[in-house]
Amino acid sequence: MTFEELLQQNPALRRLRSLDADTLRRLFGRMLKECTWCGKVVGKYRSTWCSQDCVDQFSRRCCSVKSASFVYDRDHGICRLCGIDVAKQEQEFNAAWRQKEKDLEAVGIRYGKVWTAARDALRSEYCFARGRWYEVDHEIPVSEGGGLCEPEKLRLLCGKCHARETADLQARLAARRAEKTNQTTKPKRKAKRNVDR
Ligand SMILES: [Zn+2]
Ligand SMILES: [Zn+2]
Repeated sequence: MTFEELLQQNPALRRLRSLDADTLRRLFGRMLKECTWCGKVVGKYRSTWCSQDCVDQFSRRCCSVKSASFVYDRDHGICRLCGIDVAKQEQEFNAAWRQKEKDLEAVGIRYGKVWTAARDALRSEYCFARGRWYEVDHEIPVSEGGGLCEPEKLRLLCGKCHARETADLQARLAARRAEKTNQTTKPKRKAKRNVDR
């Protein structure tokens, strides 16, 4: 059985961001000396992986930290939606903030509410949002069954583009919930009105 087939048989796995090797071995039903990823019998001095290639394939699919770093390198740190360089944004912010901090200090502001608000406003100008400079985004959200996906379905987004995409997703989910409630309440309302008349 391939990993793809395993996911088809267990759709609930698609709602996970990561899957550890022991759990994967159990799900695959791997025996001693069988490679966790491909199932082939491993070489003499090996026990759970036949090759580095299988370790890498597993990491990219099943480890959210490793897949994120893979996607960051692959996309060269460029936001797929707006095209900005997220590392450059952070560097430029740091330089701008050093200056701004000096200006604030000159008028006696060091930490506190005003200082924090000034830093957050400046960060936002450099595409920082929701506590991050960037995010590796699932093209199909994990909450909609897009977890443990192939790296092709992951993309690098700057903080702002990711925040916007997340807001869109939340609106979509809310609309779906509202639709469901409407479907169950509509007939009731109709029946009431009939009685009134
Ligand atoms: Zn293998
Ligand atoms: Zn962006």
